Amino acid sequence: MNAAPADQIRLLDLQAIDSRLDQLAHRRRTLPEHAEIDKATADHTALKDLVVAAQAQLGDTTREQAKAEADVEQVRSRAARNQQRMDSGAVTSPKDLENLQHENASLAKRQGDLEDIVLEVMERLESAQTRVTELTARLEHSAVVVAEAEGRRDAKFAEIDTEADKVRRDREAVANVIPADLMKVYLRLREQQGGTGAARLYQRRCEGCRTEFSITEFNAIKAEPADKVLRCENCGRILVRTGESGV
Ligand SMILES: [Zn+2]
Repeated sequence: MNAAPADQIRLLDLQAIDSRLDQLAHRRRTLPEHAEIDKATADHTALKDLVVAAQAQLGDTTREQAKAEADVEQVRSRAARNQQRMDSGAVTSPKDLENLQHENASLAKRQGDLEDIVLEVMERLESAQTRVTELTARLEHSAVVVAEAEGRRDAKFAEIDTEADKVRRDREAVANVIPADLMKVYLRLREQQGGTGAARLYQRRCEGCRTEFSITEFNAIKAEPADKVLRCENCGRILVRTGESGV
């Protein structure tokens, strides 16, 4: 294949631009913020689960407390009713009075036990409330951490994308003047050769694969017409001769 030396040199400009675009894309993909966001999001999700569990625990304990207080109230009102009957004088049988007194003594003991339960449940209720409060605060904080990391990522995205847009406009200007057949070979090689399709010949080396040519090989290169599109014998990339190539 033949191409004007100036177009071959433009290919090196295009290569530099494409490499820059590759770097920008790589930077965009590997921003440290991606890992930060993943971790912060995982923390946030885990905390969300913990808050749900703590709220369920709080709900259960609240119901338990209501039940314990109702139990106390039931015993208390039964004892009060008994006391009222005894005080009213309506119960005259000594046997019945004795039974009522006996029952109230049991009820008093029962009330004491139930009040102990109420106290114990209240303590648990308090710690359940504290846990919900603490976890909710941590959950809110974790959302802020996610949002901050996303903000930093988006700022870097914007910076990278702005530069990439500019580089792409430069690319268009260069790509537009390169002959189509040369462009086609370059693009194919670029895809096959890890992003580098064209390399400069410099100090007897292919700058694509760093191979140093022997004097004989170098002399053969020198003998080639300037408009012949050369390929590196080692890596196959388009080998571009410039003013600094010594040919
Ligand atoms: Zn090479």
